Amino acid sequence: MPYCPTCNQQFTDVSECPNCKTKLVDELPFQTRRSDDGTTWVEIASTANSDEAQLIQGFLEAEDIDAQIEHAETSMFPTTFGKLGDVRVFVPVEDEKRALELMKQREREWENLEDDDDTLVTDEGVAEVDENAEPE
Ligand SMILES: [Zn+2]
Repeated sequence: MPYCPTCNQQFTDVSECPNCKTKLVDELPFQTRRSDDGTTWVEIASTANSDEAQLIQGFLEAEDIDAQIEHAETSMFPTTFGKLGDVRVFVPVEDEKRALELMKQREREWENLEDDDDTLVTDEGVAEVDENAEPE
């Protein structure tokens, strides 16, 4: 079933999303899980280490989203997946859209931070930041 990775919707008989014109893909880009209590969990992020996953989990929990971390090596689920990373972050499906939105915002904020990384505009113009300076 063709699927729009941007809108999280499935369509029939079209090759691009009627809403956003994204080319449809055949598979869901993220893994889903169903836990014993009937909650469907959707993978929202895949990271190479648990530190990053815990940052994401903390970030989402601060927004009242119940995030779960799955380590591939300790997973109770079959590990037939796992090309992007070893640690996955899951959220309940009803929070997926909000969580994805928050993740996008978070990435944008990081990009903005990176833009400011190396140079500093002062009255004298653009000055190099002293990378060896001690943090305050
Ligand atoms: Zn779409």
